[in-house]
Amino acid sequence: MSRLAILEYPDIRLRDQAVPVTDFGGALHELVDDMFETLRASRAIGLAAPQVGYNQRIVVVDASGTGNAPTLFINPRITARHLWAVIEESCLSVPGLEGRVKRCLRVTVEAQDRHGRPFTRHLEDMEAVVVQHELDHLEGVLFVDRLPLLRQLVWRWKNRHVAEPGRVSA
Ligand code: ZN
Repeated sequence: MSRLAILEYPDIRLRDQAVPVTDFGGALHELVDDMFETLRASRAIGLAAPQVGYNQRIVVVDASGTGNAPTLFINPRITARHLWAVIEESCLSVPGLEGRVKRCLRVTVEAQDRHGRPFTRHLEDMEAVVVQHELDHLEGVLFVDRLPLLRQLVWRWKNRHVAEPGRVSA
């Protein structure tokens, strides 16, 4: 296992829509193990494959923050959402920024495991929030996009010298 480099804003690869995993062979298992290692080494609670340069629908989550209870979601879909709340978030790919984002505290997720077997999980609280954050990464969405407009404008202005290629910087 090896620790993978984390892409950071404004890397354009963070804006790609990830593609579904169809090959559940050895290369996938190696990537998943490297993502677990990267999650643990970063002391993060979630990581999506596009953050480490792989444009695939893979997410790892460990809401315990210890790296000891990781969960893998391949081709995840949220099929139910309940209990909206405002949550303070940050992101490995957007260092130095925290912000309050609207998320649900109860979600149902359908996904596949590393062998392609489908499963359903009902998630609560931080685990539910992290999964929503990571699924956004699969769509090329960063949590900064979900901040109130004024906060986004201030942040983009502060980062105007590292403006995202192909995006209008306000
Ligand atoms: Zn993130």
